[in-house]
Amino acid sequence: MELFACAGCDTPLTTEVTQVALPGHTHQVWGNGVPLPALLEAGTYVVDPEPSGPPWRRWAEVGAAEAAARGVFAPVYSLSFGVPGTIGLAPGDTRNTVLVPEPSGDACCGQDGRDGPNLFCAGCHRPVATRIDDCSYWQVVWLVPDAVRRLPAPGPAEPPADWPTLLREREGIPPVEPSGMWDRRWEAELGVTLAHLLAACAGAPVGVPEGLLADTLGRVLTVLLPGSPEKTLALAGPGLPAPDADLVLVPRHPQTGETWSPPGEATLVPLAADVWIHLAFQQNRPLVPTIKGDLPEAEPPRLPYSFFLPDTRVFLRTLARLPAVREPWLRAIYDRVSGVPCWRPW
Ligand SMILES: [Zn+2]
Ligand SMILES: [Zn+2]
Repeated sequence: MELFACAGCDTPLTTEVTQVALPGHTHQVWGNGVPLPALLEAGTYVVDPEPSGPPWRRWAEVGAAEAAARGVFAPVYSLSFGVPGTIGLAPGDTRNTVLVPEPSGDACCGQDGRDGPNLFCAGCHRPVATRIDDCSYWQVVWLVPDAVRRLPAPGPAEPPADWPTLLREREGIPPVEPSGMWDRRWEAELGVTLAHLLAACAGAPVGVPEGLLADTLGRVLTVLLPGSPEKTLALAGPGLPAPDADLVLVPRHPQTGETWSPPGEATLVPLAADVWIHLAFQQNRPLVPTIKGDLPEAEPPRLPYSFFLPDTRVFLRTLARLPAVREPWLRAIYDRVSGVPCWRPW
């Protein structure tokens, strides 16, 4: 556990927080007018290793070689040349900061961070963080890396939870919200996974097991990689039998970000643990008679009102950062999806 203090005057700026992995929906942007909850659970923080915030430089100005050196391998509108390593946390975990609303006033109904830091240290009035809470964005506070100091919190450090503990304590995220919309985290996380899956399959059409996985990833795969399946995909991970497949979807640890690694030679494709847990253990759960012989009162699975489509912005953002996107067949997919404002295959 750590806390963060102002680098200028040592005023504590956060409560005690524990580092977790950067979620796949960190940079997700939703439709205007839709308020989103906090990106992170209370008591946790993330570090974004990429540069963020201004100054921004357009792709044409940066060029492919310099962009590749910065870890971006396909054209994007612009690249941030801000400081890397910004620290994100739940807005409720900040302390001793003063919000100064953004002067441009261009945001819709909150702060969107476009003018740079908008939270100032209550002790010395230096800019220390950017609060983002406009509609369309997950609510978060980003600490400016060189404006804060990380201090160890008192008490013993807790090691990350092991997989048996995680499986016992986390139920996963249901894929459909009560409104009938697909959960946004599913859309974002499967956008991340789709990019990794394409990079791993080397252009061969992939057969996906029937069920929720086929209804989500499988549907878009048949559009992007049509044809008879040449490779197979299966879930693998803690608590599941060893699969017989070319590609295996394995969980990404929610605290460390490490990918679960099975024995064998299958190619690993990471998936957020909370989506993986639902796919592995919650979908199509049979109703088991109770002692009295009655069926338990279980909520029936919710049905979505539209076909599933991974978040294309998150998909493209992830794919642009995978070196495999330089292969012509994958670059063609990238160009096809990024070539229209809101790509929809159906
Ligand atoms: Zn708004
Ligand atoms: Zn200060």
